[in-house]
Amino acid sequence: MNSAFTGAKKQLDKIKPFLGNSVDLLKKPQKFFARKITVRLDNGKKKTFQAFRCQYNNARGPFKGGVRFHPRVSEDEMKALAFWMAVKCAVVGIPFGGSKGGVAVDPSSLSQGELRRLSFAYANFIAPIIGPWQDVPAPDVNTDGVIMAWMLEAYEKKIGQQAPATFTGKPVELGGSQGRIGATGFGGVVILKEYLKKINAKKANAKLAVQGFGNVGYWFAKFADEAGFKVVAVSNSKGGIYNPKGLKIDKLTDSFKPNITNAELLALPVDVLVPAALENAITNTNAKKINAKCILEMANGPTTPEADEILAKKGIDVIPDVLANAGGVTVSYFEWVQNLQSYFWSQEKVFAEEKKILEKAFADIAAEAKARRVSFRQAAFILAVGRILEAMKLRGRI
Ligand code: NAD
Repeated sequence: MNSAFTGAKKQLDKIKPFLGNSVDLLKKPQKFFARKITVRLDNGKKKTFQAFRCQYNNARGPFKGGVRFHPRVSEDEMKALAFWMAVKCAVVGIPFGGSKGGVAVDPSSLSQGELRRLSFAYANFIAPIIGPWQDVPAPDVNTDGVIMAWMLEAYEKKIGQQAPATFTGKPVELGGSQGRIGATGFGGVVILKEYLKKINAKKANAKLAVQGFGNVGYWFAKFADEAGFKVVAVSNSKGGIYNPKGLKIDKLTDSFKPNITNAELLALPVDVLVPAALENAITNTNAKKINAKCILEMANGPTTPEADEILAKKGIDVIPDVLANAGGVTVSYFEWVQNLQSYFWSQEKVFAEEKKILEKAFADIAAEAKARRVSFRQAAFILAVGRILEAMKLRGRI
């Protein structure tokens, strides 16, 4: 089993030649909370679930990170994801640190009522350690705006006042931002266009295969389709659907009938492979079989460090997660800003501002990669970790 956090620490080791041994200071989180939370089931019995919140670093601003409901949620995974959040916020230059939370649960085994009670229990667990200037949770795998609304309700009940800026990814009716739901996918398309411009490749008819058809995968595929890319395959945990002539994304629902496996999707002869499901999808066992020219990491941590080396040897560019999927947290930042001001933006303004931030982040990273002759991932980490360490220095923490 690949440890995501071990992989994350290896990524830090790789930038030591550029930033020195101080990168070791980022090999552990500032705070880690774990507790069993109890939920009443519909049949009257009680069930306990392991819950976590990892607050990795807040030198650049309040902790920021999603909440995941998934059977595979573990201490190791939380630490890796929280670390990557801190890096991601520094990559795009928004004033947040990094955190992550989750519950080890298969939400598909719960009724709506049980899911709501689980969300309430989780919010009560983290209530003392979150807040607009402390730690700002958001949706992640298997959580969404509805769950954020339940968590906001539980949190506000506990503290006795309104505090919408404590959660992002909320429904628009409760102070959520226009555009947040599709923001991660939209941002991925912005970054892909910048990358293709940089390598002088034409986007017309570029073939894309997308692993994962949830919030990120669906919206990415939809915006890519609208932008003129040809999405030839998508998948979910049950398998994938492939049509070399291109899929009609707006007609596709998550209940499509699979005609390929996820392993086959990863090996398709496409221009861009887009992992948008979970960590460790591309490993040293399947990296050799990848036929794409480039990988756009829309999931967090989909490529292990060993696979990264194999891909580099094969000459496949990897556009790293901390840049490719940073559109989500960027619009979460806009949501937080709008909530603090109680003044709301149009969707056009949200997407225009998101595009500006992501295009600048891409340009900065591309320039760093060129100047230092390193991969996009290393360039992103050098810039971001440098910014975090600088903030720690300014605060006198180191
Ligand atoms: P989601 O729960 O909405 O969707 C996950 C998708 O992955 C589903 O289609 C599921 O069926 C599929 N999947 C699960 N296991 C799979 C497997 N083994 N093979 C193929 N498909 C599989 O989650 P999401 O919000 O879309 O998040 C996906 C990834 O993007 C995660 O890594 C998450 O951390 C990252 N991410 C999400 C956001 C966001 O705004 N939601 C932002 C940045 C990064």
